[in-house]
Amino acid sequence: MTEAADDLVLVINSGSSSIKYQLLNPESGAVTASGMVDRIGEGNAGIEHQSDGETTERRGAIADHTAGLRLIFDMFAETGHDLANAGVRAVGHRVVHGGEVFYQPTLIDDAVVAAIADLSSLAPLHNPANVAGIESARKLLPEVPQVAVFDTAFFHGLPDAAKTYAIDAKVAAAHGIRKYGFHGTSHEYVSGQAAKLLGRDPAELNQIVFHLGNGASASAIRGGHPIDTTMGLTPLEGLVMGTRSGDIDPGIIAHLMRSAHLDIDQIDTLLNRDSGLKGLSGVNDFRELQRLIENGDTAAKLAYDVYIHRLRRYLGAYLIDLGGVDAITFTAGVGENSPQVRADALADLSRFGIEIDPAANTAKSRTARHISPPNAEVAILVVPTNEELAIARAAHRVAETA
Ligand code: AMP
Repeated sequence: MTEAADDLVLVINSGSSSIKYQLLNPESGAVTASGMVDRIGEGNAGIEHQSDGETTERRGAIADHTAGLRLIFDMFAETGHDLANAGVRAVGHRVVHGGEVFYQPTLIDDAVVAAIADLSSLAPLHNPANVAGIESARKLLPEVPQVAVFDTAFFHGLPDAAKTYAIDAKVAAAHGIRKYGFHGTSHEYVSGQAAKLLGRDPAELNQIVFHLGNGASASAIRGGHPIDTTMGLTPLEGLVMGTRSGDIDPGIIAHLMRSAHLDIDQIDTLLNRDSGLKGLSGVNDFRELQRLIENGDTAAKLAYDVYIHRLRRYLGAYLIDLGGVDAITFTAGVGENSPQVRADALADLSRFGIEIDPAANTAKSRTARHISPPNAEVAILVVPTNEELAIARAAHRVAETA
């Protein structure tokens, strides 16, 4: 199917050493082309580009994000979708941290780029990479409106009691310390899709969303507005993740500094890259964890049990915060694909109206669906997330009014 030339949005998700991208129609969600540049700055960098059902792969050195984006543009041209002439209506950039400054999709100009760069102390791995992606895209498509869509935005209005850490208020204020929350684009999109699936107005619903991917977070949403979420000042807080610890006793940090003589960067690396499932079992990928468990690996089993224990802790907390729930929704790699996790997370809760239909839970499907029995008190849902589509729609909206 050919799209009307000006219907397309290029979505760019620029990480510290990678750039994921998609060219899509914001209305239908139809994807013209997509791909990923990885290992930027390393010798064995490369691109994998999908378009018209074909995958093209190239490996070689890619010095920086500008070179990475240039390669993406070359790939589009080679495969018959020259971006300069494709009538791209907007470029949507996923930006991780909007701090207190940004809580709406925002048309990018020099001041916005500077402000995103200024927020780098809150997201030192992510915001500089986002800025690099934005600057490169602005150079390559100078006439096209560029829009920043922030991962923190959906959680901007969290109630004070949920977003405030109980530390010295003056210190917190001086350093921007509060719960910001992340994966907001996904939580907003998925909770909206869940309401659609239920045929209900989001304003009438109390929802809990579990976004369980490599990163993982949960949110409690009342009437379409989040009232709490598990990630905090940074994406480290909350659930157990692939390589991130989630919640720990903050006293562990001082203890490690004194007893193990780790410096703060080593501790940062330990908690962000060498903890979570990987720290407990040696593997961060959930499918590998499941294989280890099947082979009787006790460390992997413990990692799984800790993962489920943490999920259930937040489920309980959010049930009470919301004063009852209408829908519980699972999304992202693990949430969409692991019936075992969904069953264990919600086991033995029938007294709260929470029940899974085992056949529906294990049925293979890639679409949004119910996995609770018909007429269940609480709807249990699986909804595939689509952050690119949500970003494309937001970017298109902003570009239309620019
Ligand atoms: P994401 O960050 O959303 O891409 O999710 C990545 C995580 O989803 C990885 O830990 C994968 O192992 C996990 N995942 C993907 N497919 C499956 C599956 N079929 N069963 C269990 N986990 C899966």
